[in-house]
Amino acid sequence: MRRIPEPFRIKMVEPIKMTTFEDRKTALEEAGFNPFSLKSEDVYIDLLTDSGTGAMSANQWAGLMIGDEAYAGSRSFIKLQESVRTLFRYQHVIPVHQGRGAEQILFPTLVERLKKKHKTSSPNSDFKPVFISNYHFDTTTAHVEISGAKAINTLTPEATDTATWYDFKGNFDLDMLAANIQENGAENVAGVIITITCNSAGGQPVAMANIKAAAKLATDNGIPVIIDAARFAENAWFIKQREEGYADIAIGDIIREMFACADMFTMSAKKDPMVNMGGLCCFREDEELFKAAQVLCVPMEGFVTYGGLNGRDMEALNVGLWECADEDFLKYRIGQVEYLGERLREAGIPIQYPTGGHAVFVDASILLPHIPPEQFPAHALTNELYLESGVRGVEIGSLLLGRDPATGTQKRSPFELLRLTIPRRVYTNDHMDYIADSLIAICDRASKIKGLSFEYEPTVLRHFTARLKPIA
Ligand SMILES: *Cc1c(COP(=O)(O)O)cnc(C)c1O
Repeated sequence: MRRIPEPFRIKMVEPIKMTTFEDRKTALEEAGFNPFSLKSEDVYIDLLTDSGTGAMSANQWAGLMIGDEAYAGSRSFIKLQESVRTLFRYQHVIPVHQGRGAEQILFPTLVERLKKKHKTSSPNSDFKPVFISNYHFDTTTAHVEISGAKAINTLTPEATDTATWYDFKGNFDLDMLAANIQENGAENVAGVIITITCNSAGGQPVAMANIKAAAKLATDNGIPVIIDAARFAENAWFIKQREEGYADIAIGDIIREMFACADMFTMSAKKDPMVNMGGLCCFREDEELFKAAQVLCVPMEGFVTYGGLNGRDMEALNVGLWECADEDFLKYRIGQVEYLGERLREAGIPIQYPTGGHAVFVDASILLPHIPPEQFPAHALTNELYLESGVRGVEIGSLLLGRDPATGTQKRSPFELLRLTIPRRVYTNDHMDYIADSLIAICDRASKIKGLSFEYEPTVLRHFTARLKPIA
């Protein structure tokens, strides 16, 4: 596969420390065999996340100098609002500190409004609010639950078959969506959330036809449609490449066509728009809901024209929204991730195929069949990659999933994956080759890699702070 060269040149560099195998062995032991506890200084290539880790452009940095830090009515906010109106055709804009900031002001507002409606239209039936999504991101699930609602996922079954190509593994299973609306009763569905791309399925895209069909099911039932827009530009790029009739449509038009299907969107701007911190909560035309969300914004995020952001942050975000939707950038961006995936596939390493927009997922259950799920094969592979190369990936599997709170037994995970998340504009194509070469080297000794057991297991969100040790 040919490499697509970077559509930028480098004006400033950040040196990274080179480490030896001995350095890494000591660092990993001190970190309790948990890469989350490593100092970033001890990491050569950091593939923990693509969130807030992108490299800003010269124009974004320039924006920092002209930010208007006025408490109310900042010029930087007005510019950002104009960009949202032009790029997405959404009228009402609330800046927030990051994606979860949007979730915490939107979801309670939607549930509250539905509750009022419920009281007048069906006063004698129970109110049991739910949100239905292709797949809720983890903070999205958390905020759905904090708002008193239940989160239901209706992802297409093709997504779990990692070895087989499917164009749109982020799609809704539309039958399952319809059945869930029916079972829960439309009067209990606070929103249908379309996550583009579908992070939890591996940054996999949702087809335009699927977005439209899911939105129609919702709208026909009087249910609001929300786009979770963290990777909206990457999704548009996949539609252009893979969906019939879109090859000649401009990315901007594909973006507007997707967003025309929804009523509102939440966005973590730490992903596609390449800012270190920022987010948006926007409404196409529903002024009443916009105003209700603004009321929550003030105490939770900050005044409605800054929402937890500096004026200069809004300048950087305003520039980033346009840069991430540039076709030359997207071609390189998605191409770089795909290149890494193809290098691994050529070497016979099993990955979620095709690669998604922001990460390559290596299937550790196939690579390390001798390690059972309760000894965390993907985590063992993550550690081995770090020891070999200084590359930090992250486990998406049994360690992340945790135990059933009722019974205390390990939950059964559908996946045991090592996620290699590629930050935007940060690492070169040579870095991709280094990552691939390192993983390929490990595979020759895969059968010798040992599983892990706990030395310390926290009761909640254990993967962040757990301490482990290899099983002798
Ligand atoms: C990251 C992410 C969020 C949450 O955004 P934060 O900026 O981390 O708060 C929500 N949804 C999706 C799909 C995400 O990837």
